[in-house]
This record gives sequence, structure tokens and C-alpha cells, in this order.
Amino acid sequence: MVDFQRNLSEKERYIFEKVENSIPVLWINPNKTDRFPENHSYSFQVVLEAEKRLKRFSSYIKLVFPETKNLQGIIESKLIEIPNMKQLIEKHANKPLAGKLLLKCDHELPVSGSIKARGGIYEVLKFAEHIAFKHGFIKETDDYAAFQRSEFKELFSRYKIAVGSTGNLGLSIGIMAAKLGFQVTVHMSMDAKEWKKKLLREKGVQVIEYASDYSLAVEEGRRQAADDSMCHFVDDENSIDLFSGYAVSALRLKNQLEQLNIRVDQEHPLFVYLPCGVGGGPGGVAYGLKAIYKEHVHIFFGEPTQSPCMLLGMMTGLHDNISVMDIGLTNRTEADGLAVGRPSKFVGKLMEPILSGCYTVADDFLFESLKEMARTEGIFMEPSSHASVYGPIQLLKEGKTYLEHHGLLDKLNQATHLLWGTGGNMVPQEEREKYLNKTI
Ligand SMILES: *Cc1c(COP(=O)(O)O)cnc(C)c1O
Repeated sequence: MVDFQRNLSEKERYIFEKVENSIPVLWINPNKTDRFPENHSYSFQVVLEAEKRLKRFSSYIKLVFPETKNLQGIIESKLIEIPNMKQLIEKHANKPLAGKLLLKCDHELPVSGSIKARGGIYEVLKFAEHIAFKHGFIKETDDYAAFQRSEFKELFSRYKIAVGSTGNLGLSIGIMAAKLGFQVTVHMSMDAKEWKKKLLREKGVQVIEYASDYSLAVEEGRRQAADDSMCHFVDDENSIDLFSGYAVSALRLKNQLEQLNIRVDQEHPLFVYLPCGVGGGPGGVAYGLKAIYKEHVHIFFGEPTQSPCMLLGMMTGLHDNISVMDIGLTNRTEADGLAVGRPSKFVGKLMEPILSGCYTVADDFLFESLKEMARTEGIFMEPSSHASVYGPIQLLKEGKTYLEHHGLLDKLNQATHLLWGTGGNMVPQEEREKYLNKTI
């Protein structure tokens, strides 16, 4: 029997025990630093390049996805205040939540209706550009609207793109890659919802179903793709490109906060709560935000009590060498986007100096929050997305030492709490009704 707890502090051993018993926790990362880690294996330069690449593709995106026309082909979501959600948070925390409460609306991102429209679409575009460059079809300075021409589609039809997914990544990769003309295969884990598979098949995507969880679907996809030199595998557990696509969001958020006249500085802390699956999405966003706001941003990842893979990987320092199943959890959750038992191979390590902490949330809360947000704000988000809402609750309930240590206790009136919405817009009406009528 491996001793997973050998590197834990006393406090962490206590948290570990609660995690094993699927009781919601808040874990504070002892390795966080105030500075942005500059000399790392991954550089912020890559994020700036990704932003430029997405701009190059904007004329094409605007053409093929008319819903992005008002945004000039930039796939972006709104940032809004959701004051009515304070009530639910305060009820569970048993304390008032001072400051502003905002929602980043990635649940309604154009094209694929989830945060995956950032990373997934970016990786497909980057691969398409690489192929087009290689064959001399286009130069960086050309108008990328050319990508919709038939000779591009013909070129791409000789290539394949494959991905393993619990659902939303498959949707975003599938929709974008099929639009460009690639042959697409999505390896779906057992958690993937039926309607997601159906939608992809309608778009001409080959969907292969597995009776196993996400990690095995990814592994099998990776293995099949490795045998095929014409196939690009989007590797959710390892991909720098996905991560970079997600990170661009931070540059955009900075502008949005400025437009709303919301300050982030010594006197105005920013708290950000992100639902976490394998870690690429929230990790990319966190990396970008830390580069911009340094010690003034406090970032927390939220995971289901049955799938706390990032918490477990970071707390034990074992990262992808530990799975939630190793400690007796089931990795079964209604939050299909977060049903991941083993974290990314690189995100947790990159997050060590960046992340403030991880917390867990019970499925019942996700549904309570889903109903409350629909009722009081008229907003529908899928269960995974509601893991963000539990963040401020855990901070108020269990984060006093953290707040004290960072000198934040007397600044909470000027604070901004930002919940990151991550998915929902693609969910069919019928499925929404089921969620909304679910008895908890
Ligand atoms: C994928 C997903 C996440 C988490 O992203 P990871 O990169 O897997 O950590 C959160 N919410 C939703 C709705 C998702 O689809």
C-alpha cells in the first residue's frame, strides 16, 4: 500500500480524511507565491502568440459562424454582475458576502457553448494553419477568410483530428474540425451525455463510445492516433495548445473589467472560482490572470466531492501519479465536465506557485445552485459550471486563515468575486427541464 499522505501537514491529513469521505473541503496551497513565475518551461509569450493567431483567424470565424459577427469573429463571452446569487451563497456560508459578485459567461460562448470553445477551437485552428503553411496555401499576412475555400477543405480532408472527451471538448473540437473539412473522431467516456454524441454524429463526426471513464477514453484515442501519421491527437492531459487557448481569456477579461470600472490592485482584491476537470481550462485561465494581476488575484479551483483529482494531485505532490480511485472515491458525478479521476500531466505543477487553493462541492449543491440561478437571474448553466458558485461559500466558511495571512480581511468590501461559468448553452431544452425539475 502506497502512503499517499507522507508529504502532508497535519492540517492536510485532516483534509485528506474528509476528501476520502467525500465531505466538502477547502485546501489552501502552501506553495503559492505572490509573484508570477517567469523562468518556467512555459512562457507568457506563447499566450500572446495565441491571441494573435486567433485574430488572424477572426475573418474566417466571422464567415463560417455568423453568430460571431457582432464580435468580429472573436469568440468571447460577457462579464456580468449577478447580485441575486449572493443570497444562496450567504445562506450556505451563514455570513454576508461583501463586495461585487460577477459571472464570466463562458457557458454561452459562441460556437460550442462552453469554455472548450477557447482551448479546443484554438488547437484545431493552430493545426489547420500549420498544414496550410506546410502546403504553401497561405501566409500569415493573408486574409484567413481563404480557409473557407474548397481547396482548403480538400487539403484538410486528407487529415484526421482525434480527441478523448467527457463531452464538451469533443463538441468544440468536433464542430470546428468538421467545419474546416477534417475527418474527426471523438472518443467519448461513459459520462458523456447522449445528446452530445447525437449532435456530433449529425455533424459527420465519428463518435466511439467507451464503457469506461475519461482517462481510458483518452488513452485509447491516443493509442489509435499514434499509429496514424496523418492524425493529430488533441491530448487533453498534455496539451500546451489547449492551455494557451484558454489563457488568452485573461487578456480579454482585463479589458472587460476595465470597461466595468472594476479595479484590481492592493486595495481591491480579485477572487476567481473555476470549475476544474483535468485542469487545462482553469489552469490556462489562472496562468493568464496571474501574469496580469500577480498577488492581487486569488484563484480557487472547484471539483466534485467524488472527482477531486487536481486537489489530490497538488496536495500530495503526486500530480498525475495519483487517481481519485486510489483513495476509494468513485469518480461518479452528475457534473460530467468534471468527471476526471486523474489530473493533467503538467497543469498541477505549473499551478504550484499560482493557485490559492482547491475546494470540493457535493452534487446536490450543483443542482440547488442551477435552480436558484435560473430562478433569480434567468441564467441556465449546466451542473459542472455551478462548481464555481461554491467557491465563495468555502472561502467564507473555511478561508479565514488565508484571508488573514494575505491581509484581506479589511478589504472584502472592495473585493470582486468572479464565478467562471463554463458550460450550458448547448444543452437542449428537454435536458434543461430535467435538471430544473430534479428533486435533490
Ligand atoms: C471541461 C469543462 C470544465 C473543466 O475544464 P478542464 O480543462 O477539464 O479542467 C469545466 N466545466 C465544463 C462545463 C467543462 O466542459
